[in-house]
Amino acid sequence: MSHLLHRNLKATYPVAVGGKGVTLIDADGRSYIDASGGAAVSCLGHGHPDILAAMHAQIDKLAYAHTSFFTSDPAEELADHLIAHAPKGLSNVFICSSGSEAIEACLKLARHYFIETGQTRRTHFISRRQSYHGITVGALSVGGRMKDRAPFKEMLLAGHHIAPCHAYRGQHTDETPEAYGLRMADELEAKILELGSDTVAAFVAETVVGATLGASPPAPGYFRRIREICDRHGVLLILDEVMCGMGRTGSLHACEQEGIAPDLMAIAKGLGAGYAPIGAMLASGRIVEAVRQGSGAFPHSQTYNGHPLACAAALAVQQVIARDDLLANVRLQGAHLERRLKERFGNHHHVGDIRGRGHFWGIELVADRTSKTPFDAGLKLNARIKQAAMARGLLVYPMGGTADGVRGDHVLLAPPFIADAAVMDTIVERLGEAVDAAI
Ligand code: PLP
Repeated sequence: MSHLLHRNLKATYPVAVGGKGVTLIDADGRSYIDASGGAAVSCLGHGHPDILAAMHAQIDKLAYAHTSFFTSDPAEELADHLIAHAPKGLSNVFICSSGSEAIEACLKLARHYFIETGQTRRTHFISRRQSYHGITVGALSVGGRMKDRAPFKEMLLAGHHIAPCHAYRGQHTDETPEAYGLRMADELEAKILELGSDTVAAFVAETVVGATLGASPPAPGYFRRIREICDRHGVLLILDEVMCGMGRTGSLHACEQEGIAPDLMAIAKGLGAGYAPIGAMLASGRIVEAVRQGSGAFPHSQTYNGHPLACAAALAVQQVIARDDLLANVRLQGAHLERRLKERFGNHHHVGDIRGRGHFWGIELVADRTSKTPFDAGLKLNARIKQAAMARGLLVYPMGGTADGVRGDHVLLAPPFIADAAVMDTIVERLGEAVDAAI
């Protein structure tokens, strides 16, 4: 009997004991192609020698020093690297240990900025339905999965929701993608006006929606209009690139492809590629300067901020991505993966949509393609696909549909940036078999 408080106390889990390249190995000697990097984490695969060497070198020198006494070379160098490659206007980095903490820091700094600048009425956050931004109470407040929020209703920050920009389910048949994008973005302006524009602190959104909508990219022009609306009303734009960022979609930051920059941005998973727990908030110079000119402090520190070993791992990950031009591979092999997915599932009776960018793809499973009717949630298709895939030596990240028919089951793929065409072919072949076996 395990003393771990597992995610599911009724399930038993195989024991992961090793990993090399795109493969994970369990204690029974079974190997799995890691086609989802866990939850879009292991972007360099497993056991990468350069990351291990950098971590060994760092731990031989220093594992930890508290940031109230010291800064450290790995933390400073990682911040320099991130800002050198950041969207325009971002100037400072807060380094924490997870995506939820990175989002929490964004919400806190947004609020703090408005206090520093005398706009104390700005307490409302707006985000989108069916979004996931983490499990801490602030992150949950902006999350849009109502079932997750329900038990904590009375404890949440002032979070308000608009519709997600999700073309497969939201775009009208007589509407262009551009018109759809503008219609969805305009929901933000309506919500800001409803709440009172001087009461809204920030809008929070994932640039490409990962876990909850299965790699759903925004409609063209959506984020440009969102940026304009935020600027018009003095509302900060917080982009959650915890899952879709750090190269996953083929550019270092997914927002580069939208032609906009946020005021605050959360990154995590691919930042440390699973070699160490690490997340970060990137903040704009305008916000940091307001704090510097005001109280001079952001009162939101944690024991493990800027952890030297985690920073050394993340820095090495980012240097390998740049040195080996892995974003070019993501674009090249991402296009191959897209082709193979469309060949295998394009005419599949139960695949309603195939969407994504780079090494970030989702297929949505539906009982009926024409009406887009999801499978009955009671079938637990997502769990069956996960199991069927594991039985075939494949790790994918499936998510269940909603009982209200707003979303079908989907399977998320997030293969490592080192994957080649042969790996992509095997992923699609095994996924095809798993889907057919599970339905
Ligand atoms: N934001 C997004 C978009 C995520 O996908 C996740 C995790 O899946 C988080 C935030 C929270 O990150 P973490 O699980 O590292 O706290």
